[in-house]
Amino acid sequence: MQVFQEINPLKAFLHQKKREGKRVGFVPTMGALHQGHISLINASTEHNDITVCSIYVNPTQFNNPADLKKYPRTLAADKAMLQDAGCQVLFLPDNAVMYPVETKLQLNFGRLEKTMEGKHRPGHFNGVGLVVSKLLHIVEPDVAYFGQKDLQQYLIIRQMVQELFFPTALVCCPIVREPDGLAMSSRNVRLSKAARKKATILYQCLSEAKTLFIEGRASVAQIKKYVGQKLTNQTDLMLEYFEIVDAHNLLPITKTYKTDQVAFCIAAEVGGIRLIDNLFLNEAIHI
Ligand code: AMP
Repeated sequence: MQVFQEINPLKAFLHQKKREGKRVGFVPTMGALHQGHISLINASTEHNDITVCSIYVNPTQFNNPADLKKYPRTLAADKAMLQDAGCQVLFLPDNAVMYPVETKLQLNFGRLEKTMEGKHRPGHFNGVGLVVSKLLHIVEPDVAYFGQKDLQQYLIIRQMVQELFFPTALVCCPIVREPDGLAMSSRNVRLSKAARKKATILYQCLSEAKTLFIEGRASVAQIKKYVGQKLTNQTDLMLEYFEIVDAHNLLPITKTYKTDQVAFCIAAEVGGIRLIDNLFLNEAIHI
């Protein structure tokens, strides 16, 4: 695996590959890799000649400085995992490379960022939009791979890529979970033993909500109330939101929905660690 820390040598390498007719897939990450990330790498290596992974903990998307400071960094293990997965290129920029001048540009994604993560993490999607734009300009991939785990992030990037004519196709990959249902996340390693055990309740809530929705006896409001009450009674757990939305545009669903394009989305702090998860009513839908 070739490792690049600077933009120009990476661009020169990839331009040469493109001249040779190679198709480039790209997986942007913040490192502390797990099997969720590797599923994106696998999707890319399956459909592309060259897979580029970036590891960069982007400061502009952290609205909480303590969260940025404590974000897990496991570079040696990450490199080994990428190598094993057949990733050919690792881009490892630092802040001076990614933000050589102070960024004044502000990105506003309109209604899509006014709910869920956008509402609870002011400025987060501005930072995500900036870093993903920069990375897409640097790597110029044919396809970029993102996880459904960050559904709102995917929808925002999709809007940006469409509106700004980025010549990159996007693929949204399913959520990889631990055997007990907890969605894999780099932040999971920060959970205490007790919090790790408790964290499975998020997936349980999503699954129960989905079952209630399918049964059709409880209204959306009743399902939201049920989940809210279930999580309010927990110690060391603070629910930020639980939403039942249209998976394509995150508009709230108010009554029994005619289509199956429904997503159940949750965010909570468990033992002080912020976790998010979501579940589609129909896992087979394509977004
Ligand atoms: P991150 O390193 O957290 O910025 O994540 C990098 C990419 O991996 C994003 O597109 C995430 O949505 C995706 N990702 C994170 N966790 C998972 C997971 N459990 N399953 C699938 N994809 C994931």
